[in-house]
Amino acid sequence: MVNKFDNQSPHHVVIVGGGFGGIHAVKTLNIDNIKVTIIDKRNFHLFQPLLYQVATGILSPADISSPLRSVLSKKKNTKVLLGEVCDIDPQAQKVFVGEEVIPDDTLIVAIGTKHCYFGKDDWEKFASGLKTVKMQ
Ligand SMILES: Cc1cc2nc3c(=O)[nH]c(=O)nc-3n(C[C@H](O)[C@H](O)[C@H](O)COP(=O)(O)OP(=O)(O)OC[C@H]3O[C@@H](n4cnc5c(N)ncnc54)[C@H](O)[C@@H]3O)c2cc1C
Repeated sequence: MVNKFDNQSPHHVVIVGGGFGGIHAVKTLNIDNIKVTIIDKRNFHLFQPLLYQVATGILSPADISSPLRSVLSKKKNTKVLLGEVCDIDPQAQKVFVGEEVIPDDTLIVAIGTKHCYFGKDDWEKFASGLKTVKMQ
């Protein structure tokens, strides 16, 4: 087995997603001779547990969003890339962000979750249309 950490060029860890999982991964990767690229389709980290307070007007959206570059500014080996990952090739160890191809030695996918209405698509339409419902 080849130990990639023995190479002259630093081991490249690519993390997709700058949510709780991605940020935790960056902060715990305290290993010499690695470089980290974290990619997110948004340029900010969203603190989701306080979304309710934004929805109810107690906080503004800016109170629960922090620019990823600021959050990770002390991590000198870490580059923050804004872009949506559209594909990954685990065999070739490549991540695709639009036209850009990013090679990785280690890939961490931390893209969160998506809601599911268990085949009841109408429920989603109803939920997203709630804001237009007029109260009598
Ligand atoms: C309203 C609400 C309240 C919550 N309250 C709590 C709580 O009190 N306590 C608790 O422990 N948990 C709580 N949670 C759950 C918690 O927020 C999630 O478990 C946590 O955010 C998941 O972290 P994650 O890193 O997996 O995903 P996320 O935090 O969702 O991060 C995923 C990131 O990946 C990025 N991404 C997705 N797809 C792509 C792509 N293709 N290319 C590039 N980037 C991409 C997204 O932009 C996002 O930044 C709450 C969630 C919600 C919605």
